[in-house]
Amino acid sequence: MVAKALFLGIDLGGTNTKIALVDKDGHVLERSIIPTRAMRKAEEVVENIAEEGLELCKRFEERGFKVWAAGIGIPGLFDWHSGVCHLLPNFPNKWKDVPLKAWLEKRLSLPVAVINDVRSITLAEKRFGAGREVNSMVMIAIGTGIGGGVVVNGNLYIGKDGGAGELGHITVEPQGVRCGCGNRGCLEAYASGPAMVAQALRALVQQNDTLIRDLVGDDLSRVNPKVIAEAAQKGDPVAIEIIERAGAYIGQALSCVCVTINPEMIVIGGGVALVGELLFESIRKGLKERLFMVPVETIHFVPAKLGMDAGVIGSATWARERLEEGVIG
Ligand SMILES: [Zn+2]
Repeated sequence: MVAKALFLGIDLGGTNTKIALVDKDGHVLERSIIPTRAMRKAEEVVENIAEEGLELCKRFEERGFKVWAAGIGIPGLFDWHSGVCHLLPNFPNKWKDVPLKAWLEKRLSLPVAVINDVRSITLAEKRFGAGREVNSMVMIAIGTGIGGGVVVNGNLYIGKDGGAGELGHITVEPQGVRCGCGNRGCLEAYASGPAMVAQALRALVQQNDTLIRDLVGDDLSRVNPKVIAEAAQKGDPVAIEIIERAGAYIGQALSCVCVTINPEMIVIGGGVALVGELLFESIRKGLKERLFMVPVETIHFVPAKLGMDAGVIGSATWARERLEEGVIG
């Protein structure tokens, strides 16, 4: 590869799609954010992304760079071999049987690798972020949903069908509420952002005395994890309990992962992770209560490091590594 080799990283989101040119060291040279407008047909969304990607590539190729491959991280299920999308649960059209890899390859004239969005963040954190120095690592991203990723022997481990790392779908309540995946009592239904908001709304409807009410006034649509965190920081018992309960469930789920992987490090990311120390403490406490076969004190607990760029860095890096291994190209 020439010295000025670049890789196109795409992070497909329900609201916005991030597109960036990334070098082999994980540096973002240029980034662009476009509204996904996911209500459109899949073909139109992909066309739009490709157009923007080509524009970025063109600008840099004029300056002597060469773009070798593209990676796209997507929030859903797909075939890891063919790159055909099976289901994007949060997209209105669901993207069933969308040949994403083939469409992008044709439009971009580049080899394309598809990856799950949180697996992409996990890879980025491993190569260039919080997990640089460790050999084994578990990433959990807490946001609208809960996703994860697993690193074993220094590499992202995706498993036979790419399902390794679906931490949001570990059962934490056997008779619990039905999850979108079909199972009952998945972690995601108890500890994601919407799950925390639902508990806060319940407390408000039940007329519980809570600072959350003072923070949002009469506008219940303003209740979000940040507001709950703010109330908790001011000592509000209702908010503290919501965060502690979420942390306990996450700790419980992580205990399953720890006895399977015995990781050196647990990286916590996603929008809800910004809730901060109380959540981290509760997760650590929940883990300690459930985990006896592995010394919890020896596991490094760290926040994700790469922030908003993690998705594009990860998908670009995934494409580069797939290309180097001869899997795409
Ligand atoms: Zn589930």
